Amino acid sequence: MENKLNHKHWPHVLYIDDEEGNLDAFKAAFRREYVIYTANSALEGLQLLSKHSDIQIIISDQRMPQITGVEFFQKILPIYPEKVRILLTGYSDIEVVIDAINKGEVFRFIDKPWDQDGVRMAVRSAKDLVDAREKAKKKHESLVKAYKDLDRFVYSISHDLRDPLMSIVGLIELAEHEVTEQTAIDYLKMIRTMTNKLDHFVNQIIDYYKMAQNSSSEAPVDFKSCLEDLLMEFKYHPDASNIRFETEVDDNIALHVRAVLMKSIMKNLVSNAIKYQKPDNPDKFVKIRVTKSSEHVTIQVEDNGIGVDSKQHDKIFEMFHRSTSSNNSGAGLGLYIVKEAVDILGGTIRLESEPGKGSVFTIKIPVRKMKS
Ligand code: ADP
Repeated sequence: MENKLNHKHWPHVLYIDDEEGNLDAFKAAFRREYVIYTANSALEGLQLLSKHSDIQIIISDQRMPQITGVEFFQKILPIYPEKVRILLTGYSDIEVVIDAINKGEVFRFIDKPWDQDGVRMAVRSAKDLVDAREKAKKKHESLVKAYKDLDRFVYSISHDLRDPLMSIVGLIELAEHEVTEQTAIDYLKMIRTMTNKLDHFVNQIIDYYKMAQNSSSEAPVDFKSCLEDLLMEFKYHPDASNIRFETEVDDNIALHVRAVLMKSIMKNLVSNAIKYQKPDNPDKFVKIRVTKSSEHVTIQVEDNGIGVDSKQHDKIFEMFHRSTSSNNSGAGLGLYIVKEAVDILGGTIRLESEPGKGSVFTIKIPVRKMKS
């Protein structure tokens, strides 16, 4: 096989035939085009396969003394599924061949006695298939690697960002106790607002990471306690102080899903309902309803805030899309996370909203047949 290394782009072909004359003729005809291995029995063919992993294409005669070509291919299929198999046969065996092709055991067949053009055509399509598979495999591997790198990057960025952020918040609090000059107090307040915003963004990235990771397991989500925890979290939020919260949750809702998905949905919707209130409305409210039918759990988050223009209804679910430029608005990640989570749960999301009047986000999660 002295040409093996020099011609690694040539098709690497193993030819099995019990007639030595055919093997010699094959070598003579194709030694300038293929890297060739020959065997005069299925057993010898097997030995060559285990020794030479570079073999890509196997051509086997159908009629051999101990085993037929199709039987040989059937036997090696589980061990060498990626080798492309070509059968040499006469028309009397046609039914066996059709059956083998239909079952995927044979890629092509060549009439016997073979002529050079017939072999060339079959080997060329076999080689195209080998190359296409190799290309797809490489692409897949590089995508998996890129995805893993990105994942690791996002995870470490979000965690490494949070620690110094928390220190900044602590220092601002200390400074607020010490400083008396009004201008400095005003600046500190602004720094605190922006720091909270950055912290919120980093938290959203961590949530998105957890969601995409698919790591947490399914468990029955208790909506009542989930909501209580959430409202406790928002209780001390500066924008939530004069908002009336109303919750209405059906009893006995046990939705078996990944809790992190449900929490992301609720947290982002409630946070928006608080953020996008009308500043001078004396009666701000956020109403949260969770109801269950035999088919769905329905979650509704309603507010009487600034509302969303109908032209923006689809766009606001896109990543990094913001339709307001108020100080309150975040990075445009919240509703994208909600939409992703709802998709994973096989559910739907609907928005009814009118500018100046308020918004209702309705989410329906099917009780069964969930993708999660
Ligand atoms: P952000 O981080 O900017 O809040 P979101 O993806 O959560 O990003 O929301 C996208 C945009 O949708 C917001 O910038 C805002 O303009 C609009 N929006 C979302 N929720 C509401 C709501 N309850 N009332 C009014 N506008 C909203």
